Amino acid sequence: MMVADSMACVPMLSVQPKGKQKGCAGCNRKIKDRYLLKALDKYWHEDCLKCACCDCRLGEVGSTLYTKANLILCRRDYLRLFGTTGNCAACSKLIPAFEMVMRARDNVYHLDCFACQLCNQRFCVGDKFFLKNNMILCQMDYEEGQLNGTFESQVQ
Ligand SMILES: [Zn+2]
Ligand SMILES: [Zn+2]
Ligand SMILES: [Zn+2]
Ligand SMILES: [Zn+2]
Repeated sequence: MMVADSMACVPMLSVQPKGKQKGCAGCNRKIKDRYLLKALDKYWHEDCLKCACCDCRLGEVGSTLYTKANLILCRRDYLRLFGTTGNCAACSKLIPAFEMVMRARDNVYHLDCFACQLCNQRFCVGDKFFLKNNMILCQMDYEEGQLNGTFESQVQ
């Protein structure tokens, strides 16, 4: 059976322990605190439910945590690792959030896709590029297009 690998956003509850002392799923010790966290059907010390990446205490940053591949993560790290940035404006494929991207106005691009769409020239940091009719252009092609009136004649 295929299981959709969707975003696992799990609610966290801060509860007062009732009845028998619970064991912490993080450190395996008994929880004697006034409050404990309940998440993923387990109980945790407030100090033990931490993001695997940045070590922040999840009980403090919100009321949800994120899990994937046995990792417990805060929202920020989850999105950084597993979220998506959007679709590349050049090849229209999805860009995972952890990948380096180029941004131009509202568009995002794979690093590999960010090149002049006429001559394929790549850009270095600080290089000038132009966006015209949603096409990335190097300065040369842009200026040439301006001279020939190529762009103005394009109707979108
Ligand atoms: Zn603990
Ligand atoms: Zn984190
Ligand atoms: Zn792309
Ligand atoms: Zn070019």
